[in-house]
Amino acid sequence: PIVLGIESSCDETGAGLVRDGVLLGHAVASSMDEHARYGGVVPEIASRAHLHALRPVVGQALDEAGLRLSDIDAVAVTTGPGLSGALQVGLAGAKGIAYALGVPLHGVHHLAGHVAADTLEHGPLPNPCMVLIVSGGHTSLLRVRSLARDPIAHLGDTLDDAGECFDKVARAFGLPYPGGPAIDQAARTGDPRAVDFPRPLPGSYDFSFSGLKTAAARWAEGHPGRELPVANGAASLQEAIADVLTRKAVAACVEHGVGTLVVVGGVAANSRVRSLAEERCQAAGINLRVPPLKLCTDNGAMIAAVGDLLVRAGAEPAPLNVSIDPSAPLEYAALHPVSTT
Ligand code: ATP
Ligand code: MG
Ligand code: FE
Repeated sequence: PIVLGIESSCDETGAGLVRDGVLLGHAVASSMDEHARYGGVVPEIASRAHLHALRPVVGQALDEAGLRLSDIDAVAVTTGPGLSGALQVGLAGAKGIAYALGVPLHGVHHLAGHVAADTLEHGPLPNPCMVLIVSGGHTSLLRVRSLARDPIAHLGDTLDDAGECFDKVARAFGLPYPGGPAIDQAARTGDPRAVDFPRPLPGSYDFSFSGLKTAAARWAEGHPGRELPVANGAASLQEAIADVLTRKAVAACVEHGVGTLVVVGGVAANSRVRSLAEERCQAAGINLRVPPLKLCTDNGAMIAAVGDLLVRAGAEPAPLNVSIDPSAPLEYAALHPVSTT
């Protein structure tokens, strides 16, 4: 079956087409530039941009795949978590397409999409595997079995901030929005040992980034009148974040005897997170999987990937009056997981 995935939870409008675990085509439009002058995503602007972009993006994905709308066998859509107005636009579009074509609709958890993104590059996930997800709004260490069937176990979660820590510190450093890529870029010429930023919550699988964020802002304030050594600050911050993330993830794999670590979400695009994860997994004999850069940040292909797993597992479709859930907890990949009873 050919599954269309639609993503609209934040500022990216994404559409992807997946058949039997294979990505056939996808397209993403971003309203990021429209938010840059405000220093963060403005929900109303994002919703309107989704409205304009949705149909063209679906068309582009179909063109890339060499398919027509009528070739689609099922539609998967992000129902949460995310910005409510943004989610509503994607869900309304997905319902329209599913209803018009007479095909099933599946509601997908956005973070499960981030996890499934990796399957489009590296094939099915081993069962079990450990997943470190670090995205704009979430940081969790998860034990994942079958995405389509099993509940997702949380070994640890962030107590405060997540990937947006990069964006907030970038602002304090005078770097442009979005901060993640800007810090990554600035860090290239910096010394990661220049500033000794804190490594919070050692010995726990939970995360905390608010202290680190404050420490970085204080450090920036401590350089008045002089040129701020941004490269050193960026490199040191990135090192502290990569250190904490990869140390905990590898420790969890070792403690639980899980042989594969999958690192996903927007922050998995960070070059130091990727290289330190590689180093530490190799040393611990753990198989590391990280999606290609373009599939780390929000896209429709990852939602199609979850939809494809659900369809092939025989999951019950969502009713056409299904609603969004802006703060959906990550318990299952789907709104209507395959019944295991
Ligand atoms: P969520 O998935 O939690 O709802 P989101 O969808 O907004 O949030 P993602 O698209 O997964 O988040 O990731 C965006 C985040 O990734 C932003 O905070 C951005 O700064 C960060 N990011 C992107 N590239 C990099 C990078 N190279 N280094 C660090 N962070 C990065
Ligand atoms: Mg985004
Ligand atoms: Fe995301």
